[in-house]
Amino acid sequence: MAAQIDLEKCTMCGGNVLPLCVEACPDLAIRVQDDRVVVTEFICEDCNECGCVCPDRAITVPLEKVTF
Ligand code: SF4
Ligand code: SF4
Repeated sequence: MAAQIDLEKCTMCGGNVLPLCVEACPDLAIRVQDDRVVVTEFICEDCNECGCVCPDRAITVPLEKVTF
């Protein structure tokens, strides 16, 4: 698994060019593509850093996988 992004909730942090989740990810697993955020699943280590900073609570990480 990897961080799941609910695109219905995500507001792209109000249109920032560098969304908070992209900035927060220590593994560079999130990027902006076609005006939405995309998680590269095989890089994501389920740390939930992105979920902690998302103002829209649009990111969920499978709980059993959270590493800290
Ligand atoms: S859970 Fe961690 S590694 Fe995965 S996308 Fe979010 S910040 Fe990056
Ligand atoms: S931090 Fe949340 S609202 Fe901002 S771009 Fe990422 S998923 Fe969307």
